[in-house]
Amino acid sequence: MAPSKLDRRQLGTTGLSLSCVGFGASPLGNVFGHVSPEEALACVRRALDLGINFFDTSPYYGLTVSETVLGNCLQALGVARDEFVVSTKCGRYGDGFDFSAERVTKSLDESLARLKLDYVDILQCHDIEFGDLDQIVNETIPALQKLKKAGKIRFVGITGLPLEIFTYVLDRVQPGSVDVVLSYCHYSINDTTLVDLLPYLKSKGVGVITASPLAMGLLTESGPPEWHPASSELKAACRAAALHCKEKGKNISKLALQYSLMNSEVASVLVGMNSVKQVEENVAAALELSNTGHDEQILHEVEAILEPVKNQTWPSGIQRS
Ligand code: NAD
Ligand code: MG
Repeated sequence: MAPSKLDRRQLGTTGLSLSCVGFGASPLGNVFGHVSPEEALACVRRALDLGINFFDTSPYYGLTVSETVLGNCLQALGVARDEFVVSTKCGRYGDGFDFSAERVTKSLDESLARLKLDYVDILQCHDIEFGDLDQIVNETIPALQKLKKAGKIRFVGITGLPLEIFTYVLDRVQPGSVDVVLSYCHYSINDTTLVDLLPYLKSKGVGVITASPLAMGLLTESGPPEWHPASSELKAACRAAALHCKEKGKNISKLALQYSLMNSEVASVLVGMNSVKQVEENVAAALELSNTGHDEQILHEVEAILEPVKNQTWPSGIQRS
């Protein structure tokens, strides 16, 4: 019989079992347009009903709004604490970056208050390429270890765009002190550069979460938001790909999400969702993938359109070389 529930996948050696589609809560902070409290609640309710158990937020998303809205929703729905996994972040704020032990320790308490939780499952250093990586290694990660011992967080992670930041940190920290890596925009149809790093991450015992399967809106029919950092060439190629799918009666977002879900070494793929319709579409895309597989023909056509911009990315953070 065809599965009617989302796959759960193990996150590295954490013992956490995550729904393969994770709920990216940045849209709840209104970063992709306004979302009312009622819509937010309906989204989170539908996500949980459909088997999504993983929610990712940050104090930076909507300048604390995402955490507050997510906390309100989880409380209103009265979900048992062991039935969902929450990750939030530290070090990136509306007033800039601060990865000091003092700030991240205080910031976690503020996040817990907004989320109305006693602990978060994962606390991740947010976009570390904007910080001093040696400070991350020598000060931030040790501070997070203390929070782990205190029971305020269960696991420690790092996030960011350039892939070199992950090897830099993981080569220098105590083994086992970083449990999770969250990589975004490097495992989607237009950019697959994370693939080469997966064996290394596995060898370090680090669980992998990917984000932005739709390349932060590039791989959608409506296109990316104004602030999207891609080059005009990359934007144009993705627009052409989306149009091509539409002409063929296919949906580029569905294809893009399915593509990111195909590698089961990635525990969960975070998609930003701000409507019940998007939640339902994304879960349906994942179920269709496990039941009948993906549409090979349209994937090849889209890959061909995107070939000239394959693996094209954009600068992020302090330029180191
Ligand atoms: P995304 O690729 O998931 O794109 C989100 C956009 O696509 C939004 O506009 C959303 O409304 C739209 N969308 C979602 N489902 C759709 C569908 N079925 N059809 C059409 N449009 C659809 O990018 P994202 O939101 O940037 O990433 C997802 C999540 O990953 C974030 O919310 C965040 O939790 C996490 N993330 C973390 C980092 C980091 O830690 N540095 C970076 C990027 C993303
Ligand atoms: Mg982010």
